[in-house]
Amino acid sequence: MDWRSHVLIGAVLGLGVFVLLGEDVFALVMLTAFSGLSALAPDLDHDSSKGRQWLDVAFVGLAFMTVYGSACGAGICLPAIRNIGSMVVTFLAMAGVYFLFFRFLKPRHRGITHTFAACFAFAVLLYFMTGKMLALAGLVGYASHLIADNELKLL
Ligand SMILES: [Zn+2]
Repeated sequence: MDWRSHVLIGAVLGLGVFVLLGEDVFALVMLTAFSGLSALAPDLDHDSSKGRQWLDVAFVGLAFMTVYGSACGAGICLPAIRNIGSMVVTFLAMAGVYFLFFRFLKPRHRGITHTFAACFAFAVLLYFMTGKMLALAGLVGYASHLIADNELKLL
């Protein structure tokens, strides 16, 4: 199943759940979009998946903001030349960890990421990072992917 179908199924299921819960329009749009995005998470175990491509781009942006933020704090600055070296080293270190994770620790395709245990772990992680509504949206999106793939394993 291609990524568009996964996003669509995740979003439709999310929309249904949050309409039933009586969310307002703004929350519906946000939560539905998040359910759709979460439906891509299980395929992060696949190098050419859309979720991986987007995560790669998001990672570069996040790494840049982290490096820039650690050099400049919250303010806007032009880092001095002497800071450039440490910024490059920090960026390369982050990129290295990211690369090594996906190169050596990435689970096999349709392995652990395609289980309900991973789905619940994803939701619990979201719960502690963002709260219960996004956790529920993530749970619905992730679970929709497993159901659409017909991968109904607990572990
Ligand atoms: Zn899949």
